[in-house]
Formats: sequence, structure tokens, C-alpha cells
Amino acid sequence: MSFAKKTLFIVLDGLGDRPIQYFGGLTPLEVARTPNISALVEKGACGLLDVIGVGVRPGSDTGHISLLGYDPHAQYTGRGPLEAVGLGVHLADGELAFRANFATVNSQGVVVDRRAGRIDSAKPLEAALNSINVEGVKCHFKAGAQHRGVLIFRPQKGMLLSDKISNVDSNAQGVKISLCRPLDKSPEAAFTADAVNQYLSKASKLLLKHPLNKTRVKNKLMPATGIIVRGAGVAPHFEQFKEKFGLRAAAVSHTGVYTGVAGLMGFDILPLKNATGRGDTDLDEKARVAAGALSKYDFVFLHIKGTDVFGHDGDYVGKRNFIERIDTAFSKFSDLNDTLVVITADHSTPCEMKNHSADAVPLLMAGPGVRKDAIRKFGERDCGRGGLGRLKGADLMPEILNIMARTPMYGS
Ligand code: ZN
Ligand code: ZN
Repeated sequence: MSFAKKTLFIVLDGLGDRPIQYFGGLTPLEVARTPNISALVEKGACGLLDVIGVGVRPGSDTGHISLLGYDPHAQYTGRGPLEAVGLGVHLADGELAFRANFATVNSQGVVVDRRAGRIDSAKPLEAALNSINVEGVKCHFKAGAQHRGVLIFRPQKGMLLSDKISNVDSNAQGVKISLCRPLDKSPEAAFTADAVNQYLSKASKLLLKHPLNKTRVKNKLMPATGIIVRGAGVAPHFEQFKEKFGLRAAAVSHTGVYTGVAGLMGFDILPLKNATGRGDTDLDEKARVAAGALSKYDFVFLHIKGTDVFGHDGDYVGKRNFIERIDTAFSKFSDLNDTLVVITADHSTPCEMKNHSADAVPLLMAGPGVRKDAIRKFGERDCGRGGLGRLKGADLMPEILNIMARTPMYGS
């Protein structure tokens, strides 16, 4: 009897979509030419997945926690710490991490562009930001991809920090950026909110006169003159994936929250040279590294972000073309003999919504032992007629372990 010894677990971020008029009522996935994925569909079974629950719109963070077999309601402490760990920052108990992004903020404190003209890299701004001192807190800023970064507050002199503080954001362009407010009456929340406001005010003064921004203004680019911080949280504690499921696991993913989630679960994070987290990422490198990792690991998590980026941009043609490029790269997965290949998404990002929705996501499982169904094309509505039916995110790891013949018997 044959069964899968390995699992290649592929998450195409924000893959699910809704009917697009331009495509004659099909979705980007339904209209895309995907011969390699179709070959997997032919030997596998499809279904739909409610990643967290029916009607729950997952974030990428909570969506991944759920997909990987953990309960986001019990584990999630905010996006900040996951992003920070994803960027390789070590977080100790009591430290607070924020998700940060550079914005263009004018002299009246109004947000002109929430992504600072999608600045290529904010790395040159790091040193200036790390010279900022706030009484009672050691502040550390780490730039990530494009306009993104993380801010870490490390308490000093016995001070205590709290995550019960408001986000500092305008939530829209053309609106004044808010101050950080405490969300409860504790002295820790008041202290933390005050420290955030002090830090951000010092940061905007430094950013205004930074040479990088002067050059950007000269070149008619949006300067990175402000920082938006949100998702404050302390590091969550995950039972290690190896102990929980008995699988040696590795992640192939660009920096960010996906890497942070996997890192905290104890996955080995495999290095990539050319990943960008956008539509221009090197898909061949990712597929090659993931296929290679199957010789060493039982469970390889491959994350591809671009699908979500096109969804947020409302670019359905770009999303379709990107799915077709993914399919080409997936030719490397056509002859994985003892491997269960799972393809799914952490949520839908319908192009017409430009945001995440609670629509169930397509799911494909192909490999030895899978009960083949009659579906021939990977798409939202085809998957809805598939043999796997409609599962919840929490069912996915148990189903994978079942196909891998690793589930203990209940009873005797
Ligand atoms: Zn996502
Ligand atoms: Zn998204």
C-alpha cells in the first residue's frame, strides 16, 4: 500500500476571488491557463476551505496560524511580533513589537500616501531611526521589504509595556494621522502610548531632513516622512510543529508574517536569494528550493505572496498572469512520487474588493493515497464540486496526517 511520506504545503496568498465581468464571470484562477496544476488536479481531489470559519475574514497572520493547524483565537497576540520574528528579530518576554510602515505625511500631519510611494527600500533610514531615545524604552527599528518594517520596544529600568494601545494610523489618505491612545486605565498602557507618541514625533523630525528623502523629493518621489505603527503585541508561544505533528518542517517564504509564524512554530527557514514578496519574485527559485527541501524534511511550506498583492491592487489581469507564471514554475512538482501536494490559500482577496473576504478558498490535495475525484481544473467553483467537500482550516492538518498514515486510532 502506498501513502505519502512527505507533504509539500503550498499557500498562494489571497488566491480566492469572485466573478470578474472582464473574464466573462470567471475568476482569475478559473480563467488562468494552468496545465501543471491541472495535472495535479487529475490525480488528486479538490474542495473548499473555510480557513478560520464561515464568514470570518482572515488576516494573513491568523489565516496561516489556522492553516498550519493551530487555533488563532488562542494563539494570536497581534501582527507586530509575527512580522518582527519574520525579519529575524529575537523577541524576549515583556518586549513589544509593532508592524510599521513608512508613509508620506505632510507638515500638518496629514497622510498623503500610506506607503510613501511604495519606496523600494527603507533600509537607509534605519540608522537614523535607531538613534532615537525614549525614556524607559530601548527602541529598535528594522526595515523590511519596500515601505514595511517593524518597531521593537524593549522596556528599561523595570518599566512595563502594554499592548492595550491604539494603532497610529489615519486608515485613509488625506486624513490626519492619529495619536497613540491607551485602551485601558493601566499605568503601563499610558506609559506605552506616551512612549509611542514620543518616538514617532522624534522620528518624523529626523525623517524630514534625511538625505534619502531630500533625494526623493528632488526626483519627484513621495518622501518617507512618517511612520504608521499598528498591531502591537508580545511574542506568542506556539507548541513546536515537530512535537505537535511529528513532522520535520521547513518554510520557503519571503520575510514577513508567514516566515514569522513558521519561525515561531519551529520551522527551519530556508534562504532565498531573489524573493521579493511581489509579482516580480523569482518563482523558479522558490519552487526549486521547496522541491529540494523534500529530501530532508517531512513537511515543506511554500508561500507565494504576489496573488494577494494583485488582489489588493484590484489588478485581475495581473493576478491571472501571475497564477499562470506560478503554474509554469510548478512544472517542478509534476514527478514528486511519495509526496502529498497541497495547494490552497490563507484567504480570498477578490480584485473587486481590493481586500480580504471570507469567501472559502480552493483546496487541492494530490498524491499517493488520495481518493481521486472527477475535478479537472483548479478553480473556486470546480473545487466546490470536489471530493474533499467543504472543510475548515482546523481540519486540514488532521486530513494531511491521515493521508500520510500518521494518525493514531481512536478506540481499538
Ligand atoms: Zn494573506
Ligand atoms: Zn492581503
